[in-house]
Amino acid sequence: ALDAIAEHEDLGAFLHVNADVAINHARQIDERSESDDSAEDRPLLGVPIAVKDNLCTSDMPTTAGSKVLENYTPPYDATAVQNLRKAGAVIVGKTNLDEFGMGSTNEASAYHVVRNPWATDRVPGGSSGGSAAAVAANLVAAAIGTDTGGSIRQPASFCGIVGFKPTYGLVSRYGLISYASSLDTVGCLARSVDDAEAVLMAMAGGDASDATSSYHRDDANNTGGGDMESTRFALVGAALGEGVDSGVSAAVRAAAATLESLGATCDGDVDVPNFEDALPAYYAIACSEASSNLSRFDGARYGPRASVEKGASLQSMYDETRGSNLGEEVKRRILMGTYALSSGYYDACYKRAQQVRTLVRRGLDEALEGRTCLLLPAAPTVAYKLGEKTDDPLAMYAGDLMTVPASLAGLPAVVIPCGMADAGDGTMMPVGLQLIGKSFSERELARVAKALE
Ligand code: GLN
Repeated sequence: ALDAIAEHEDLGAFLHVNADVAINHARQIDERSESDDSAEDRPLLGVPIAVKDNLCTSDMPTTAGSKVLENYTPPYDATAVQNLRKAGAVIVGKTNLDEFGMGSTNEASAYHVVRNPWATDRVPGGSSGGSAAAVAANLVAAAIGTDTGGSIRQPASFCGIVGFKPTYGLVSRYGLISYASSLDTVGCLARSVDDAEAVLMAMAGGDASDATSSYHRDDANNTGGGDMESTRFALVGAALGEGVDSGVSAAVRAAAATLESLGATCDGDVDVPNFEDALPAYYAIACSEASSNLSRFDGARYGPRASVEKGASLQSMYDETRGSNLGEEVKRRILMGTYALSSGYYDACYKRAQQVRTLVRRGLDEALEGRTCLLLPAAPTVAYKLGEKTDDPLAMYAGDLMTVPASLAGLPAVVIPCGMADAGDGTMMPVGLQLIGKSFSERELARVAKALE
Protein backbone atom coordinates (compact mmCIF):
# COMPACT_ATOMS: atom_id res chain seq x y z
CA ALA A 1 0.00 0.00 0.00
CA LEU A 2 2.79 2.42 0.90
CA ASP A 3 4.55 1.76 -2.43
CA ALA A 4 1.34 2.26 -4.38
CA ILE A 5 0.64 5.51 -2.50
CA ALA A 6 4.13 6.82 -3.32
CA GLU A 7 3.80 5.78 -6.95
CA HIS A 8 0.49 7.61 -7.35
CA GLU A 9 1.29 10.73 -5.40
CA ASP A 10 0.19 12.78 -8.43
CA LEU A 11 -3.44 11.83 -7.72
CA GLY A 12 -3.27 14.03 -4.61
CA ALA A 13 -5.34 11.54 -2.60
CA PHE A 14 -3.38 11.85 0.64
CA LEU A 15 -2.58 14.74 2.97
CA HIS A 16 -0.40 12.70 5.37
CA VAL A 17 1.14 9.25 5.17
CA ASN A 18 2.75 7.82 8.26
CA ALA A 19 4.91 5.03 6.84
CA ASP A 20 6.87 4.35 10.04
CA VAL A 21 3.81 3.97 12.24
CA ALA A 22 2.08 1.79 9.64
CA ILE A 23 5.11 -0.48 9.09
CA ASN A 24 5.64 -0.88 12.82
CA HIS A 25 2.05 -1.77 13.37
CA ALA A 26 2.07 -4.26 10.49
CA ARG A 27 5.28 -5.82 11.84
CA GLN A 28 3.74 -6.30 15.28
CA ILE A 29 0.86 -8.12 13.62
CA ASP A 30 3.24 -10.35 11.63
CA GLU A 31 5.24 -11.18 14.70
CA ARG A 32 2.35 -11.94 17.02
CA SER A 33 2.77 -15.23 18.81
CA GLU A 34 1.32 -18.45 17.45
CA SER A 35 -0.80 -18.83 20.54
CA ASP A 36 -2.45 -15.45 19.97
CA ASP A 37 -5.91 -16.39 18.81
CA SER A 38 -7.35 -12.88 19.08
CA ALA A 39 -7.32 -12.72 15.27
CA GLU A 40 -10.83 -14.12 15.34
CA ASP A 41 -12.17 -10.95 16.95
CA ARG A 42 -10.14 -8.84 14.58
CA PRO A 43 -11.81 -9.07 11.17
CA LEU A 44 -9.54 -6.38 9.68
CA LEU A 45 -6.25 -7.80 10.94
CA GLY A 46 -3.43 -6.29 8.88
CA VAL A 47 -5.72 -4.61 6.34
CA PRO A 48 -4.32 -1.25 5.13
CA ILE A 49 -6.97 1.44 5.52
CA ALA A 50 -6.92 5.18 4.87
CA VAL A 51 -8.89 7.66 6.98
CA LYS A 52 -10.41 10.95 5.83
CA ASP A 53 -8.53 13.83 7.38
CA ASN A 54 -11.51 15.17 9.32
CA LEU A 55 -11.32 12.23 11.76
CA CYS A 56 -8.96 12.67 14.70
CA THR A 57 -5.85 10.50 14.85
CA SER A 58 -3.36 10.81 17.69
CA ASP A 59 -0.38 9.67 15.60
CA MET A 60 -1.00 11.77 12.49
CA PRO A 61 -2.01 15.38 11.87
CA THR A 62 -5.71 16.10 11.36
CA THR A 63 -6.40 19.21 9.30
CA ALA A 64 -9.93 18.74 7.91
CA GLY A 65 -8.40 20.07 4.68
CA SER A 66 -8.10 23.53 6.24
CA LYS A 67 -5.22 25.92 6.89
CA VAL A 68 -6.88 26.79 10.19
CA LEU A 69 -5.76 23.35 11.47
CA GLU A 70 -2.42 23.16 9.68
CA ASN A 71 0.00 20.83 11.53
CA TYR A 72 -2.57 20.13 14.25
CA THR A 73 -2.26 16.67 15.81
CA PRO A 74 -5.15 15.78 18.15
CA PRO A 75 -4.48 14.22 21.57
CA TYR A 76 -6.87 11.30 20.90
CA ASP A 77 -8.32 8.98 18.24
CA ALA A 78 -11.88 9.32 16.98
CA THR A 79 -14.05 6.42 18.21
CA ALA A 80 -14.42 5.16 14.62
CA VAL A 81 -10.62 5.08 14.27
CA GLN A 82 -10.23 3.41 17.65
CA ASN A 83 -12.71 0.71 16.62
CA LEU A 84 -10.82 0.14 13.36
CA ARG A 85 -7.58 -0.29 15.24
CA LYS A 86 -9.27 -2.73 17.63
CA ALA A 87 -10.41 -4.72 14.61
CA GLY A 88 -6.76 -4.97 13.53
CA ALA A 89 -6.70 -2.41 10.70
CA VAL A 90 -3.42 -0.69 9.86
CA ILE A 91 -4.08 3.02 9.31
CA VAL A 92 -1.67 4.10 6.59
CA GLY A 93 -2.59 7.74 6.14
CA LYS A 94 -5.08 10.58 6.02
CA THR A 95 -6.95 11.44 2.85
CA ASN A 96 -7.62 14.77 1.21
CA LEU A 97 -11.05 16.44 1.35
CA ASP A 98 -12.89 19.66 0.68
CA GLU A 99 -12.23 21.98 3.61
CA PHE A 100 -14.38 20.77 6.56
CA GLY A 101 -16.27 18.53 4.11
CA MET A 102 -17.79 21.50 2.31
CA GLY A 103 -17.78 20.74 -1.37
CA SER A 104 -18.52 18.23 -4.10
CA THR A 105 -15.26 18.01 -6.04
CA ASN A 106 -12.37 18.15 -3.57
CA GLU A 107 -11.30 21.42 -5.24
CA ALA A 108 -12.08 23.25 -1.98
CA SER A 109 -9.19 21.55 -0.15
CA ALA A 110 -6.84 24.21 1.21
CA TYR A 111 -3.88 21.98 0.23
CA HIS A 112 -4.23 20.52 -3.25
CA VAL A 113 -6.79 19.00 -5.61
CA VAL A 114 -7.45 15.28 -6.04
CA ARG A 115 -7.60 13.75 -9.52
CA ASN A 116 -10.04 11.07 -10.66
CA PRO A 117 -8.02 7.89 -11.37
CA TRP A 118 -10.25 7.08 -14.39
CA ALA A 119 -9.41 10.40 -16.12
CA THR A 120 -6.97 12.66 -14.32
CA ASP A 121 -8.36 15.88 -15.80
CA ARG A 122 -11.64 15.14 -14.00
CA VAL A 123 -12.79 15.59 -10.39
CA PRO A 124 -13.07 12.57 -8.07
CA GLY A 125 -16.15 14.07 -6.41
CA GLY A 126 -16.26 15.26 -2.84
CA SER A 127 -15.91 15.87 -0.14
CA SER A 128 -14.37 12.40 0.45
CA GLY A 129 -12.51 12.71 -2.87
CA GLY A 130 -9.15 11.57 -1.48
CA SER A 131 -10.69 8.43 0.03
CA ALA A 132 -12.50 7.62 -3.21
CA ALA A 133 -9.43 8.13 -5.42
CA ALA A 134 -7.25 6.07 -3.04
CA VAL A 135 -9.65 3.12 -3.19
CA ALA A 136 -10.36 3.39 -6.93
CA ALA A 137 -6.62 3.46 -7.73
CA ASN A 138 -6.10 0.41 -5.50
CA LEU A 139 -3.79 2.27 -3.08
CA VAL A 140 -5.60 0.85 -0.03
CA ALA A 141 -8.18 -1.88 0.55
CA ALA A 142 -10.73 0.55 1.93
CA ALA A 143 -11.00 4.13 3.13
CA ILE A 144 -13.11 5.88 5.71
CA GLY A 145 -15.24 8.75 4.53
CA THR A 146 -17.85 11.01 6.05
CA ASP A 147 -21.20 11.85 4.53
CA THR A 148 -23.19 14.91 5.57
CA GLY A 149 -25.06 15.44 2.32
CA GLY A 150 -23.50 12.95 -0.08
CA SER A 151 -19.76 13.09 0.53
CA ILE A 152 -19.29 9.31 0.49
CA ARG A 153 -21.89 8.45 -2.13
CA GLN A 154 -21.15 11.01 -4.84
CA PRO A 155 -17.35 10.41 -4.90
CA ALA A 156 -17.98 6.63 -4.89
CA SER A 157 -20.20 7.18 -7.92
CA PHE A 158 -17.65 9.40 -9.72
CA CYS A 159 -14.81 6.92 -9.05
CA GLY A 160 -16.68 3.69 -9.81
CA ILE A 161 -16.48 2.12 -6.34
CA VAL A 162 -18.79 1.22 -3.44
CA GLY A 163 -19.72 3.88 -0.89
CA PHE A 164 -21.71 3.11 2.25
CA LYS A 165 -23.39 5.88 4.26
CA PRO A 166 -24.94 4.35 7.38
CA THR A 167 -28.03 5.32 9.34
CA TYR A 168 -27.36 8.49 11.35
CA GLY A 169 -25.95 7.36 14.69
CA LEU A 170 -24.74 3.87 13.69
CA VAL A 171 -21.12 5.04 13.89
CA SER A 172 -20.04 7.42 16.64
CA ARG A 173 -19.17 10.99 15.61
CA TYR A 174 -16.81 11.43 18.57
CA GLY A 175 -13.56 12.78 17.13
CA LEU A 176 -15.11 13.71 13.79
CA ILE A 177 -14.51 17.40 13.15
CA SER A 178 -18.10 18.60 12.88
CA TYR A 179 -19.55 20.17 9.78
CA ALA A 180 -23.31 19.84 10.41
CA SER A 181 -23.80 17.72 13.53
CA SER A 182 -27.39 16.62 12.90
CA LEU A 183 -26.41 15.26 9.46
CA ASP A 184 -22.79 14.07 9.83
CA THR A 185 -22.18 10.33 9.44
CA VAL A 186 -19.03 8.21 9.24
CA GLY A 187 -18.96 5.45 6.62
CA CYS A 188 -16.78 3.59 4.21
CA LEU A 189 -15.54 3.43 0.60
CA ALA A 190 -14.32 0.11 -0.80
CA ARG A 191 -14.12 -1.94 -3.98
CA SER A 192 -16.81 -4.46 -3.00
CA VAL A 193 -19.97 -4.38 -0.90
CA ASP A 194 -18.54 -7.15 1.31
CA ASP A 195 -15.49 -5.04 2.12
CA ALA A 196 -17.51 -1.89 2.75
CA GLU A 197 -19.89 -3.78 5.02
CA ALA A 198 -17.06 -5.38 7.02
CA VAL A 199 -15.33 -2.06 7.63
CA LEU A 200 -18.57 -0.26 8.43
CA MET A 201 -19.61 -2.88 11.00
CA ALA A 202 -16.16 -2.78 12.58
CA MET A 203 -16.66 0.96 13.20
CA ALA A 204 -20.29 0.74 14.32
CA GLY A 205 -21.58 0.76 17.85
CA GLY A 206 -22.99 2.94 20.61
CA ASP A 207 -20.54 5.29 22.30
CA ALA A 208 -20.98 7.14 25.57
CA SER A 209 -18.97 10.03 24.10
CA ASP A 210 -21.57 10.72 21.39
CA ALA A 211 -25.08 11.21 22.74
CA THR A 212 -26.57 10.73 19.26
CA SER A 213 -24.83 7.40 18.69
CA SER A 214 -27.07 4.39 18.67
CA TYR A 215 -26.87 1.00 20.32
CA HIS A 216 -28.86 -0.46 17.41
CA ARG A 217 -25.84 -2.15 15.91
CA ASP A 218 -27.39 -5.56 16.48
CA ASP A 219 -30.42 -4.63 14.42
CA ALA A 220 -28.15 -3.60 11.62
CA ASN A 221 -26.44 -6.96 11.98
CA ASN A 222 -29.51 -9.10 12.02
CA THR A 223 -31.79 -7.86 9.28
CA GLY A 224 -29.95 -9.39 6.32
CA GLY A 225 -31.96 -12.57 6.12
CA GLY A 226 -34.42 -11.71 3.34
CA ASP A 227 -34.35 -13.28 -0.11
CA MET A 228 -34.88 -11.92 -3.62
CA GLU A 229 -38.50 -13.09 -3.78
CA SER A 230 -39.37 -10.98 -0.75
CA THR A 231 -37.43 -7.97 -2.02
CA ARG A 232 -39.59 -5.13 -3.28
CA PHE A 233 -38.26 -1.83 -4.60
CA ALA A 234 -39.25 1.26 -6.54
CA LEU A 235 -37.42 3.87 -8.57
CA VAL A 236 -37.49 7.53 -7.51
CA GLY A 237 -39.19 9.16 -10.50
CA ALA A 238 -37.98 12.69 -9.71
CA ALA A 239 -34.37 11.51 -9.87
CA LEU A 240 -34.65 10.01 -13.35
CA GLY A 241 -36.23 12.77 -15.38
CA GLU A 242 -35.18 16.19 -16.59
CA GLY A 243 -31.74 17.46 -15.63
CA VAL A 244 -30.30 13.95 -15.37
CA ASP A 245 -27.81 12.76 -17.99
CA SER A 246 -29.47 10.19 -20.23
CA GLY A 247 -26.52 7.79 -19.84
CA VAL A 248 -26.92 7.97 -16.06
CA SER A 249 -30.66 7.25 -16.03
CA ALA A 250 -30.24 4.46 -18.61
CA ALA A 251 -27.62 2.72 -16.44
CA VAL A 252 -29.82 2.99 -13.34
CA ARG A 253 -32.86 1.65 -15.19
CA ALA A 254 -30.78 -1.25 -16.49
CA ALA A 255 -29.73 -2.10 -12.92
CA ALA A 256 -33.39 -2.04 -11.85
CA ALA A 257 -34.23 -4.46 -14.67
CA THR A 258 -31.43 -6.77 -13.53
CA LEU A 259 -32.73 -6.74 -9.97
CA GLU A 260 -36.18 -7.63 -11.28
CA SER A 261 -34.75 -10.47 -13.37
CA LEU A 262 -33.15 -11.81 -10.19
CA GLY A 263 -36.59 -12.24 -8.66
CA ALA A 264 -37.25 -8.92 -6.91
CA THR A 265 -40.53 -7.06 -7.39
CA CYS A 266 -40.29 -3.64 -9.03
CA ASP A 267 -43.07 -1.11 -8.39
CA GLY A 268 -41.86 1.16 -11.17
CA ASP A 269 -41.30 4.91 -10.74
CA VAL A 270 -42.83 6.40 -7.61
CA ASP A 271 -43.36 9.95 -6.52
CA VAL A 272 -41.51 10.65 -3.27
CA PRO A 273 -43.32 13.61 -1.69
CA ASN A 274 -41.12 16.67 -1.16
CA PHE A 275 -38.05 14.96 -2.63
CA GLU A 276 -36.92 18.06 -4.50
CA ASP A 277 -37.40 20.35 -1.52
CA ALA A 278 -34.56 18.57 0.24
CA LEU A 279 -31.82 20.55 -1.51
CA PRO A 280 -32.66 24.08 -0.27
CA ALA A 281 -33.56 22.72 3.18
CA TYR A 282 -30.24 20.87 3.36
CA TYR A 283 -28.16 23.95 2.53
CA ALA A 284 -30.06 26.12 5.03
CA ILE A 285 -29.59 23.58 7.83
CA ALA A 286 -26.04 22.50 6.99
CA CYS A 287 -24.80 26.10 6.75
CA SER A 288 -26.58 27.07 9.97
CA GLU A 289 -24.98 24.24 11.92
CA ALA A 290 -21.61 24.92 10.30
CA SER A 291 -21.71 28.59 11.29
CA SER A 292 -22.06 27.50 14.90
CA ASN A 293 -19.62 24.55 14.80
CA LEU A 294 -16.84 26.50 13.13
CA SER A 295 -16.79 29.29 15.71
CA ARG A 296 -14.29 27.22 17.70
CA PHE A 297 -11.57 27.87 15.12
CA ASP A 298 -10.47 31.23 16.45
CA GLY A 299 -6.69 30.93 16.75
CA ALA A 300 -6.88 30.53 20.52
CA ARG A 301 -7.40 26.80 20.81
CA TYR A 302 -6.09 24.93 17.78
CA GLY A 303 -3.80 25.44 14.83
CA PRO A 304 -1.88 28.52 13.76
CA ARG A 305 -2.62 31.94 15.23
CA ALA A 306 -2.32 35.07 13.11
CA SER A 307 0.20 37.53 14.50
CA VAL A 308 -1.33 40.89 15.30
CA GLU A 309 0.26 44.10 16.53
CA LYS A 310 1.13 44.29 20.17
CA GLY A 311 -1.81 45.75 22.05
CA ALA A 312 -4.33 44.82 19.32
CA SER A 313 -7.70 43.54 20.53
CA LEU A 314 -8.55 39.88 20.99
CA GLN A 315 -11.25 40.34 18.36
CA SER A 316 -8.71 41.48 15.80
CA MET A 317 -6.66 38.31 16.47
CA TYR A 318 -9.79 36.21 15.82
CA ASP A 319 -10.59 38.22 12.68
CA GLU A 320 -7.08 37.95 11.34
CA THR A 321 -6.80 34.19 12.05
CA ARG A 322 -10.18 33.37 10.54
CA GLY A 323 -9.84 35.84 7.69
CA SER A 324 -6.53 34.45 6.51
CA ASN A 325 -6.95 30.74 7.33
CA LEU A 326 -10.50 29.87 6.28
CA GLY A 327 -11.24 29.29 2.57
CA GLU A 328 -13.77 31.07 0.36
CA GLU A 329 -16.37 28.29 0.39
CA VAL A 330 -16.20 27.95 4.17
CA LYS A 331 -16.63 31.70 4.62
CA ARG A 332 -19.56 31.71 2.20
CA ARG A 333 -21.29 29.02 4.26
CA ILE A 334 -20.61 30.68 7.60
CA LEU A 335 -22.17 33.84 6.21
CA MET A 336 -25.21 32.02 4.81
CA GLY A 337 -25.68 30.08 8.05
CA THR A 338 -25.35 33.16 10.24
CA TYR A 339 -27.92 34.90 8.03
CA ALA A 340 -30.37 31.98 8.23
CA LEU A 341 -30.10 31.95 12.03
CA SER A 342 -30.30 35.70 12.59
CA SER A 343 -33.37 36.92 14.48
CA GLY A 344 -35.14 38.55 11.53
CA TYR A 345 -34.77 35.51 9.24
CA TYR A 346 -34.88 32.57 11.63
CA ASP A 347 -38.56 31.78 11.05
CA ALA A 348 -38.39 32.25 7.31
CA CYS A 349 -35.14 30.31 6.78
CA TYR A 350 -33.98 28.00 9.53
CA LYS A 351 -37.32 27.05 11.06
CA ARG A 352 -38.90 26.55 7.66
CA ALA A 353 -36.01 24.34 6.58
CA GLN A 354 -36.53 22.19 9.68
CA GLN A 355 -40.21 21.83 8.81
CA VAL A 356 -39.29 20.81 5.27
CA ARG A 357 -36.84 18.30 6.74
CA THR A 358 -39.71 16.60 8.54
CA LEU A 359 -41.71 16.46 5.30
CA VAL A 360 -38.76 14.94 3.42
CA ARG A 361 -38.40 12.28 6.09
CA ARG A 362 -42.13 11.51 5.92
CA GLY A 363 -41.98 11.36 2.12
CA LEU A 364 -39.18 8.81 2.17
CA ASP A 365 -40.82 6.78 4.95
CA GLU A 366 -43.99 6.66 2.90
CA ALA A 367 -42.15 5.55 -0.24
CA LEU A 368 -40.27 2.88 1.73
CA GLU A 369 -43.44 1.49 3.31
CA GLY A 370 -43.69 -2.19 2.34
CA ARG A 371 -40.49 -1.95 0.29
CA THR A 372 -36.88 -2.99 0.89
CA CYS A 373 -35.30 -0.01 -0.84
CA LEU A 374 -35.55 2.85 -3.31
CA LEU A 375 -33.33 3.03 -6.38
CA LEU A 376 -31.96 6.23 -7.89
CA PRO A 377 -28.70 7.62 -9.25
CA ALA A 378 -26.12 8.98 -6.80
CA ALA A 379 -25.61 12.09 -8.94
CA PRO A 380 -27.24 13.59 -12.03
CA THR A 381 -23.98 13.46 -14.02
CA VAL A 382 -20.74 11.51 -14.24
CA ALA A 383 -17.48 13.13 -13.08
CA TYR A 384 -16.85 16.46 -14.80
CA LYS A 385 -13.64 18.33 -15.58
CA LEU A 386 -11.54 20.00 -12.90
CA GLY A 387 -12.41 23.70 -12.77
CA GLU A 388 -15.70 23.25 -14.63
CA LYS A 389 -17.96 24.32 -11.75
CA THR A 390 -15.63 26.20 -9.40
CA ASP A 391 -17.05 29.61 -10.38
CA ASP A 392 -20.65 28.56 -9.95
CA PRO A 393 -21.40 27.43 -6.38
CA LEU A 394 -25.12 27.06 -7.08
CA ALA A 395 -24.48 24.63 -9.96
CA MET A 396 -22.21 22.69 -7.62
CA TYR A 397 -24.89 22.58 -4.89
CA ALA A 398 -27.49 21.41 -7.44
CA GLY A 399 -25.43 18.26 -8.03
CA ASP A 400 -26.33 17.12 -4.50
CA LEU A 401 -30.04 16.80 -5.30
CA MET A 402 -30.05 13.00 -5.09
CA THR A 403 -27.96 12.50 -1.98
CA VAL A 404 -29.32 15.08 0.46
CA PRO A 405 -32.81 13.52 0.96
CA ALA A 406 -31.41 10.41 2.73
CA SER A 407 -29.16 12.70 4.79
CA LEU A 408 -32.03 14.87 6.02
CA ALA A 409 -33.97 11.71 6.88
CA GLY A 410 -30.98 10.02 8.55
CA LEU A 411 -31.48 6.91 6.40
CA PRO A 412 -28.77 4.49 5.22
CA ALA A 413 -27.77 4.45 1.55
CA VAL A 414 -25.24 2.47 -0.42
CA VAL A 415 -23.81 3.33 -3.84
CA ILE A 416 -22.45 0.69 -6.20
CA PRO A 417 -21.06 1.03 -9.72
CA CYS A 418 -23.68 0.21 -12.38
CA GLY A 419 -21.98 0.86 -15.70
CA MET A 420 -20.37 3.65 -17.66
CA ALA A 421 -21.76 6.69 -19.44
CA ASP A 422 -20.41 9.20 -21.95
CA ALA A 423 -19.19 12.34 -20.17
CA GLY A 424 -20.15 14.40 -23.23
CA ASP A 425 -16.83 14.30 -25.07
CA GLY A 426 -16.64 10.58 -25.71
CA THR A 427 -14.90 9.84 -22.39
CA MET A 428 -16.65 6.96 -20.66
CA MET A 429 -16.96 7.47 -16.89
CA PRO A 430 -18.53 5.34 -14.12
CA VAL A 431 -22.15 5.69 -13.02
CA GLY A 432 -23.23 4.97 -9.44
CA LEU A 433 -26.52 3.37 -8.42
CA GLN A 434 -27.87 4.51 -5.05
CA LEU A 435 -30.05 2.28 -2.85
CA ILE A 436 -31.80 3.98 0.08
CA GLY A 437 -33.18 1.75 2.86
CA LYS A 438 -35.04 2.03 6.14
CA SER A 439 -33.29 3.01 9.37
CA PHE A 440 -30.73 0.40 10.45
CA SER A 441 -31.35 -1.84 7.44
CA GLU A 442 -27.66 -1.83 6.47
CA ARG A 443 -27.44 -5.64 6.16
CA GLU A 444 -30.54 -5.72 4.00
CA LEU A 445 -29.21 -3.00 1.71
CA ALA A 446 -25.89 -4.82 1.47
CA ARG A 447 -27.67 -8.03 0.51
CA VAL A 448 -29.52 -6.37 -2.37
CA ALA A 449 -26.40 -4.47 -3.46
CA LYS A 450 -24.35 -7.68 -3.53
CA ALA A 451 -26.87 -9.34 -5.82
CA LEU A 452 -26.19 -6.58 -8.35
CA GLU A 453 -22.38 -6.75 -8.17
N1 GLN B 1 -21.57 18.40 -1.24
C1 GLN B 1 -22.29 18.56 -0.03
C2 GLN B 1 -21.88 19.85 0.66
O1 GLN B 1 -21.05 20.51 0.15
C3 GLN B 1 -22.08 17.38 0.87
C4 GLN B 1 -20.87 17.48 1.71
C5 GLN B 1 -20.73 16.36 2.70
O2 GLN B 1 -21.46 15.38 2.70
N2 GLN B 1 -19.77 16.54 3.60
O3 GLN B 1 -22.39 20.20 1.67
